[in-house]
Amino acid sequence: MDDTCEGCPLYSKSVAPTPPPLPGPATSYHRKGIVTNGSPLRGYSCVSISTKDLWERIFDSGYKADVIIYTDYDGIIYAHANVLGMASPVIKGMLKQSKFRARRRSLTIRGVPLDAVRVFVRFLYSSCYEKADMEDYVLHLLVLSHVFVVPLLKRECELQLEHGLLTNENVVDIFQLALLCDAPRLSLICHRMILRNFMTVSVSEGWKVMKRSHPVLEKELLESMIDEDNRQKERIRKLNERKIYLQLHEAMEALVHICRDGCRTIGPHDKDFKENQAPCTYAACKGLELLVRHFAGCKLRVPGKCIHCKRMWQLLELHSRLCANSDVCRVPLCRNFKDKIKKQSKKDEIKWRKLVEKILRTRSIGGAPFSSWALASPS
Ligand SMILES: [Zn+2]
Ligand SMILES: [Zn+2]
Ligand SMILES: [Zn+2]
Repeated sequence: MDDTCEGCPLYSKSVAPTPPPLPGPATSYHRKGIVTNGSPLRGYSCVSISTKDLWERIFDSGYKADVIIYTDYDGIIYAHANVLGMASPVIKGMLKQSKFRARRRSLTIRGVPLDAVRVFVRFLYSSCYEKADMEDYVLHLLVLSHVFVVPLLKRECELQLEHGLLTNENVVDIFQLALLCDAPRLSLICHRMILRNFMTVSVSEGWKVMKRSHPVLEKELLESMIDEDNRQKERIRKLNERKIYLQLHEAMEALVHICRDGCRTIGPHDKDFKENQAPCTYAACKGLELLVRHFAGCKLRVPGKCIHCKRMWQLLELHSRLCANSDVCRVPLCRNFKDKIKKQSKKDEIKWRKLVEKILRTRSIGGAPFSSWALASPS
């Protein structure tokens, strides 16, 4: 079987067709709902290469052409009114109003290179284009397909831009075109790309031109860049905050574990210290052990003067606030703090409650709730 006919319904009568390739120059155009040999195709069909070639020959030869298209720089393209009119409702309307010149109707398409118009008109005949032409004229084809209402080509331009033709150099131009041509998905993609590659895009030629011709758009882009920047900072701040709360939560778990089971060098105060314990799974233990040891032997007895002791006091108080059952808890001062909390000022109370809430919320995203910790002595 010929390579070019792979998946073509003309050759695959009984086998379920393979997913078709995207519309492109080598294959022909796919359309939904066509029935070949009485068997409905699954969503797609493709016309044979010879059909495509026939339509391109009709265009290239200009056989019995009845329309002349005038472009910039005295360019002329011959075409057929019935083909153009069927492919584009706008051209149909223009042809209706156009005057006959030498028994031919005339159309004028200006502001676009002759070759781009040729690629456009060729697409109206065969729904095909060459890859290189799309690369060269995608901007013009997007405009033409929008102006003359050829949705298939417009979609194709958007698709090609989205999948490779959009670059840091042309993204500002395409962004403006997408806004003008009512292509919301494309404009969103461009907008994202501009924000993502702002440093490169903002020194591109396209940006400089936009700055002169559309200062309002430039201002809007700069503002959205600042917004994005702030959002990014906020995301980082939240991530860091979450990290701190998770660390605190871990420290709380480790504290309960040290006081209940003992760990490495510290045993529970009411049990013998076992040398050969199972390896500890709490990452926070090491730091906490040092802190506990320091706390026990700190010479600087003045309250609030030693930052390490202050930290230990805070952890003990935090534990007490999170502890579900102080009566059976083995963490030192748990009960005392519970009593102290009752006499606390409103301001302190709010501050602590906020911290507790945040720790619990952070933990509830990915772990066991605090109340489920076994604070009581193991049986
Ligand atoms: Zn441990
Ligand atoms: Zn100290
Ligand atoms: Zn406790």
